[in-house]
Amino acid sequence: MSRTATRTHCPYCSLQCGMVLHAGDRPAELQPDETFPVNRGGLCSKGWTAAELLDHPERLLAPLVRAVPGDRSSRLVPTTWEDAYDRIAAAVRTTQAVHGPDAVGVFGGGGLTNEKAYALGKFARVALGTSAIDYNGRFCMSSAATAANRAFGIDRGLPFPLEDVAAADVLLVVGSNAAATMPPAMQWVDAGRERGALHVVVDPRRTATAKGASLHLQPVPGTDLALALGLLHVVVKDRLVDEEYVAARTSGFEAVRASVASFWPDRVERITGVAVADLRRVAHALAEAPAAMVLTARGAEQHAAGTDTATAFIHLALALGLPGRPGSGYGTLTGQGNGQGGREHGQKADQLPGYRRLDDPTARAHVAGVWGVDPDSLPGPGRSAYEMLDRLGRDDGVRGLLVMASNIAVSAPRGTHVVERLKALDFLAVSDLFLSETAALADVVLPTAQWAEEEGTMTNLEGRVIHRRKAIDPPAGVRDDLATMHELATRLGQGDKFPTDPRTVFDELRQASAGGTADYAGITYERLDAEDGVFWPCPSEDHPGTPRLFAERFATPDGRARCVPVTWQERVEPTGGAYPYVLTTGRLMEQYQSGAQTRRVRQLSLAQPEPRAELHPDLARRHGVGDDDHVRLTTRRGSAVFRVRLTDEIRPDTVFVPFHWGGGGPGAGHANALTDDRLDPLSRMPAFKACAVAVARADEP
Ligand code: SF4
Repeated sequence: MSRTATRTHCPYCSLQCGMVLHAGDRPAELQPDETFPVNRGGLCSKGWTAAELLDHPERLLAPLVRAVPGDRSSRLVPTTWEDAYDRIAAAVRTTQAVHGPDAVGVFGGGGLTNEKAYALGKFARVALGTSAIDYNGRFCMSSAATAANRAFGIDRGLPFPLEDVAAADVLLVVGSNAAATMPPAMQWVDAGRERGALHVVVDPRRTATAKGASLHLQPVPGTDLALALGLLHVVVKDRLVDEEYVAARTSGFEAVRASVASFWPDRVERITGVAVADLRRVAHALAEAPAAMVLTARGAEQHAAGTDTATAFIHLALALGLPGRPGSGYGTLTGQGNGQGGREHGQKADQLPGYRRLDDPTARAHVAGVWGVDPDSLPGPGRSAYEMLDRLGRDDGVRGLLVMASNIAVSAPRGTHVVERLKALDFLAVSDLFLSETAALADVVLPTAQWAEEEGTMTNLEGRVIHRRKAIDPPAGVRDDLATMHELATRLGQGDKFPTDPRTVFDELRQASAGGTADYAGITYERLDAEDGVFWPCPSEDHPGTPRLFAERFATPDGRARCVPVTWQERVEPTGGAYPYVLTTGRLMEQYQSGAQTRRVRQLSLAQPEPRAELHPDLARRHGVGDDDHVRLTTRRGSAVFRVRLTDEIRPDTVFVPFHWGGGGPGAGHANALTDDRLDPLSRMPAFKACAVAVARADEP
């Protein structure tokens, strides 16, 4: 069997580790790419086993429709692509004729290539003429993105390459378990520690990342904002502010200085549980280090105060003069494979390509010019992801929905309610590799090509645009989402605007992004191959790209970082009475997002076969629960049953559940059946990471 080696990238997380796929006839084999500068030969267990997705026996190999059209209790049966497309186009026409253009919606994903994310935004606004589009990245790190845009005028998760992490003398990591979720990234953390750097991890659990740190702060979930304000208070009170930097490079800091006056360390200790001495130690260490870095992730960001929390950590970094300095700064560790690119090219409810605002007349005119449409024909901003899902099937909501690369039934907050809303739709079409929990609810299911079967670009957590190279043809019967958008647009009279060749789509994306903050104009596939990725912004083909931002100015009109005071408010659901504990959620090393892919990989599911609720022995004893017993967790949204894992690595007032499972029978380990759907007022991020919960011993589900 002749086999060719193709350098490509992992299908999963935002690190986008390089790998070499050896494929001739299936099955394919892979090995880490020793030369790719991000992982340098490292892969986690998800990456090592990714080739199993390509030939998986549960792979969808033909479009599916209901045996009895319109009756979702009837079986899904195979059909032709023509029939599947015709049914979707007919449903779009009928729904929009009766209920108007916004009655048809689109829900995208942070795993789509840049080309598909771009085409999907255009498909919604041009082919469907709807404002109803958003994507699962709204649930991922939209709050940090909003905070970064507000302060820096630009949102690039890490405004520096990962290698800079190794140069930080003090590293503060808030709400990330990178050692489990993206282990190859730890080589930069480890290099710093071996140099003698002080590493501080903030997490309610003593995770693998926390165990490797010099200091672990274990606050009550949902109190990171108070912690950040307390650190700022110490910085101000102890005269640790870099006054020269603040005067030259920020605006509005005086109001921030005044706003933290009441966040005395002992008050912060009462709110967070973090000792005064630790708070002081961290503030002084950050201030006194030659190079210091603050990184946040979902644990700090997925809250109703997520934007303010990220903002407070940005203020901390600004007060200390960190952004723009070598080995220093603030960044957020994006999660999804194309979480960064997925939010730059127009699949967000309020955005156009190039990270432009949909309500900006200049941006509308520019993008409409590239698309060859009248700017006035473009719809305005639509509802955010959860707000769209909450209204599905209602008179003023979406009645027909197209989902690409998202398993909403598992990943949305208040999951039982969202599943009910999905069932209330007049029409649901889902494109996926497998019959995910969301696809199983659909009228039409479209089997799509996956990572190694397609060409495109992805943008990793550093803002490094990379080439996802095609190594293998998709199986017969499977089509690419660009082909699907073209075919559907053709049936809606707009097919000529939707090319199927990713290089053609990327060239159009470059034009549409030109002049925007996420400017890809100078990036070509040829450059990506020659340079192993290019950092945006890159406005012209002779521009080198921008690995490091903010050295001289921020992306605001006056070049200064904008400081807008934020304050601590109890925006976490209060505990007490019937719901005495705090529930928090997160990821496991062997599973990814909703688990639609990783739960099907044999080795990964053997390692993590089921979701287990982590309970401290003191809490478990109170409820007569032992290791391997089952508990029913109940919140104000619903309840779910989990097998117990006893651990003293979690706070005694906190329960942790992983969010990779759902839909396996009523309440069987569906973490998001429990989570809180109140939203951050600015980013519309749901409050996933902290809610009040009751614990009771239970029988197996
Ligand atoms: Fe893939 Fe992320 Fe694991 Fe790297 S760390 S192999 S990108 S899942």
